[in-house]
Amino acid sequence: MKKHNYSAGPSILPQEVLEKAAAAILDFNNSGLSLIEISHRSKDFVAVMEEARSLALELLGLQGKGYQALFLHGGASLEFLMVPYNLMTKAGKAAYLDTGTWASGAIKEAKTFGETVVVASSKAENYTHIPKNYTVPTDADYFHCTSNNTIFGTQMTEFPDLGIPMVCDMSSDIFSRELDFSKFGLIYAGAQKNMGPAGVTLVVLKEDILGKTGRTIPNMLNLQQHIEKESMYNTPPVFATYTSLLTLQWLKNLGGIAEIEKRNNAKAELLYTEIDRNGLFKGTAVVEDRSKMNVTFLLEDESLTEKFDQSWKAADISGLNGHRSVGGYRASIYNAMPIESVQVLVDVMKELERTA
Ligand code: PMP
Repeated sequence: MKKHNYSAGPSILPQEVLEKAAAAILDFNNSGLSLIEISHRSKDFVAVMEEARSLALELLGLQGKGYQALFLHGGASLEFLMVPYNLMTKAGKAAYLDTGTWASGAIKEAKTFGETVVVASSKAENYTHIPKNYTVPTDADYFHCTSNNTIFGTQMTEFPDLGIPMVCDMSSDIFSRELDFSKFGLIYAGAQKNMGPAGVTLVVLKEDILGKTGRTIPNMLNLQQHIEKESMYNTPPVFATYTSLLTLQWLKNLGGIAEIEKRNNAKAELLYTEIDRNGLFKGTAVVEDRSKMNVTFLLEDESLTEKFDQSWKAADISGLNGHRSVGGYRASIYNAMPIESVQVLVDVMKELERTA
C-alpha cells in the first residue's frame, strides 16, 4: 500500500502520473524505445517540449500575452542568479522581500550582481509572517518575492501593483491557486513540489522584460538564448520535463487551477481547523499568512512527541517532520495529496487528544 506522503519536496505526484512515467521509461509512445534513450531532437520528444511549454502558459492563463515558458536545468537555486543576470542593469538595483530561507538565498545571489534593496524582512520573528506595508523603490529594475515559504509555512496573498517587473519564486505553490499571473514579469519554480521530479525548473517570463541590462550573459544563463532555442539550447532534462507534462495534463483534465484550488482550500481548512480545535497542537505561522501548501505546527507538550510520532508512522504517514529551523511538524499538502490522506492525519491527531 502507498504511504500518505507529506514530504516537502521532492514530494507526492499523482498516481496516474507515476504510472504513465514508469511506462514511458520502458516504452515511449509504442516506439520500442525508452523515453530516456531517444534523441531530444526526435519528433516525439520535441512534441513533449512544445506541449509542456504551451500547456504551462494555458493553465496560467498567459497564452497570447507575450509570455514564454521554459523548462530548464539547475533548480530554482540557479534562477536566484539567472534573475539578476538577466534583469538587473549594470548600474541598477533590485528590490527583494525577505520572507524566508529561500528568499534570503535569492537575495544573497542578487548582491553579487549589484545593489540589492531588502524592502522588508520577517527574519527577526523567524519568518512566522509575511511583512506588509513595505515600499518598493520605483527605480528598481525589478521586485522579487517568494509566494510560498516552504520551510516556514507562510504564503503571500497580496502582491503589490508596481510599475516595474515583478519576479516571483513560486516553487512550492505553482499551479495551486488562481492568481492574476499577468501581474508577474517572471515566475520560476523548481518542479519537485507541484509539477514533477527534481531536475527541471519552469521559468515563465514576459519576453519584453529581457535585453535591458547591458551585461554580457553566458549563453547557458541567458534567458533570451533559451527562448530562441525553444528550451532546447542544450539537452533538456527529458524525463523530468515529460513527467511534468503528465502532471500538467492531469491538472487540466481535472479542471485546471480553479478546481485544484477548491480541493487545496478544503484540505488546508480540514487540517488547520483540527490544529486550532485540538488543544495539543499549535500552528507556527500567524493565521492570516498560513500556507495552504505547507502546514507547520508544534506539539504544545513536547513529552507527547514520541507517542505522536509512533502514531502517525503506524498510520502509514511519511515525511511529517518539520524543517530543522522551525522544528515540530510540517504537513505538505501539495496538489496531488488527496483529502483522504489529510483525514488520516487529522484522525491521528484526534486520537492523540483522546488518549493523551
Ligand atoms: N525556493 C523555494 C520556495 C523552495 O522551496 C526551494 C526548495 N525547497 C527552492 C527555492 C530551491 O529549489 P531547488 O532545490 O530546485 O534549487
